[in-house]
Amino acid sequence: MAKQKITIEKITSLCKRRGFVFLSSEIYGGFAAVYDYGPYGIELKNNLAREWWKHMVQMRADVVGLDSGIFMHPIVWKASGHVDGFDDPRIDCKDCKTRMRADHMLEAFGIDADKMSANEINAEIKKLKEKGKKLKCTTCGKTNLTPAKNFSLMVKSNLGSPTDELLEKNAVYLRPETCGGIYLNYRNILDSTRVKLPFGIAQIGKAFRNEIVARQFIFRTREFEQMEMQYFLRPNEMQEKYEEWKKMRWNWYLEYGIKEKNIKWHKHVKLAHYAAEACDIEYNFEALGGFKEMEGIHQRGDWDLSQHQKFSGAKLEYLDQKTGEKFIPHIMETSAGLNRMFFAFLHEAYTEEEIDGSTRVVLKFDRRLAPVKIAVFPLLKNKPELVKKAKGIFSGLAKKYMCEFDDNGNIGKRYRRQDEIGTPYCVTVDFDTIEKDNSVTVRDRDTMKQERVKIEELDDYFGEKFKI
Ligand code: ATP
Repeated sequence: MAKQKITIEKITSLCKRRGFVFLSSEIYGGFAAVYDYGPYGIELKNNLAREWWKHMVQMRADVVGLDSGIFMHPIVWKASGHVDGFDDPRIDCKDCKTRMRADHMLEAFGIDADKMSANEINAEIKKLKEKGKKLKCTTCGKTNLTPAKNFSLMVKSNLGSPTDELLEKNAVYLRPETCGGIYLNYRNILDSTRVKLPFGIAQIGKAFRNEIVARQFIFRTREFEQMEMQYFLRPNEMQEKYEEWKKMRWNWYLEYGIKEKNIKWHKHVKLAHYAAEACDIEYNFEALGGFKEMEGIHQRGDWDLSQHQKFSGAKLEYLDQKTGEKFIPHIMETSAGLNRMFFAFLHEAYTEEEIDGSTRVVLKFDRRLAPVKIAVFPLLKNKPELVKKAKGIFSGLAKKYMCEFDDNGNIGKRYRRQDEIGTPYCVTVDFDTIEKDNSVTVRDRDTMKQERVKIEELDDYFGEKFKI
């Protein structure tokens, strides 16, 4: 059956209705661009993070993990260039006061303005004007706009008990990306583990950005999570490793159920001054109007470690034991947004099917990603012997799998509820279980086929299904 059109309304409504994602501080009217992950949301997010970690750290002899603090010495962000230059140029509408990202406005004219400064953007706007073209407000459509101005994305905070005079001096920043902590620990990891070039350090954690426009559900938020891996190498290894990691990241999405037609590469035209090559994996977010960035794979040269060496005075060179050569390693990074990935996988799984004249909404997640793996039901709520048996099965299976016990409503409704959260299997205890065959009915989410399985064989049955 053909897939129906996926809209942002369908996704947000399902996420709220079924406990995946809630708007932050909802009872106070909401807090823009921050979201909370409910009982099924946290399971999906954790599963994605675990499967990423498995491929990026566990299965690799050359990558180790890290969990660094969100707060760092304020000079870190001076050295990295973020304090002075982590800006997104913005344009304001003088009539309706809408604030817009200038680079996104230029996209409408086919101009890739990613990483352009406000001055460069204003020069592009001037060129457009000379051709008789004008930018319009995305809300009211009028052309009464300010020029592009830089807008810092850094989120400032303070620690200790600063008096008013010390507030500015003691300002610290919530990290805008997780890789900063990796650069600061490169030396520690080199000295405390057996890693040798080339090697990677991976980290999953929160990042914060004062985004100008954040109206696309969890796609762009002010608080989010990143999954980053920084790979340290010799300059002559860069191109080969870059191609290797690009392939690995591409295949990871396919392995977990993203269809190849729904992802594509976007090569950066304008690069950060230190970068040699950079590209993104974009996902086709139909609900947001098309392909958008989900993960970046970038060559960063030796810029990060050189800057930290310069600002800290610490020696960050690598000594090659074989050649005796000392040098600052170059870095290749893979940088993915966990929340964007969550959105993409939920989007990919979202399916509507016409069944007997009504619509079945089902999330066809890969089994490893499904928030709940198995739901267990007694056929009837008011039959203690069925409830007791079902609870016993739940307790046994829950030692290995995320399970849910449900005795609410008729079986058809319970199946639909589990379909909507993407549970691959439902197990029902009925009268035959008790009176005849000590077996249960197992129903498959995708085929909706049912089969009888002996209770004592359930462990092997699901072991095979989940390949544990
Ligand atoms: P964009 O161009 O969309 O603002 P970016 O190029 O600034 O993103 P990076 O700095 O390369 O993004 O960050 C790496 C990844 O972190 C992105 O590919 C994205 O998945 C995620 N990410 C970045 N900003 C946000 C945000 N505000 N909300 C959610 N995820 C984000």
